[in-house]
Amino acid sequence: MSGYCFQVPPLSIDKITASADLFRRSLGVTEDRFPLVEVVEHLIPALWEDFTFEVREAGDMGSAHGLTFPEKGLIWLRDDVYQGVLDGQGRDRFTLAHELGHLLLHNSIGMARSIQKPTDLKPYENSEWQANTFAGALLIPISAAQRLGSPNLIADACGVSLDAARVRLESLRRRGKIR
Ligand SMILES: [Zn+2]
Repeated sequence: MSGYCFQVPPLSIDKITASADLFRRSLGVTEDRFPLVEVVEHLIPALWEDFTFEVREAGDMGSAHGLTFPEKGLIWLRDDVYQGVLDGQGRDRFTLAHELGHLLLHNSIGMARSIQKPTDLKPYENSEWQANTFAGALLIPISAAQRLGSPNLIADACGVSLDAARVRLESLRRRGKIR
């Protein structure tokens, strides 16, 4: 999350969810709690040799908790956020999953990206909305949301904040994906 957003080609919630599901499947992840550290430190590098994950000091990061350079296959995470991920903090896990969203959704080389005020964009063409949607879908698979059903249980099992669990449940219910 970097405070500004880019206009990117539009993506629907269903398309973003399909990308998150495919990513989980291609890594062989079946557990509710997505193993973020193992994924960025071992699983992605094993599949993609140009991928780099770096933990950086706050001074390198401006106001950002994480920064992704999709065309370079590079993710930077602020050192305290990384520590939070290691400690299982939901908010920090969401930040890293959000950066994975940028990496996977926004990596087409030469993609026209213009910086916009969020208010000038429709949500589905806003890079930050897309990355947040990806993070929710990656960290809270529909199967877990269906089985667990309550924000508290989802937050515990999936390692997300209560807010993230509520947002995901509400989105799934609104779209008729769960009761
Ligand atoms: Zn972002």
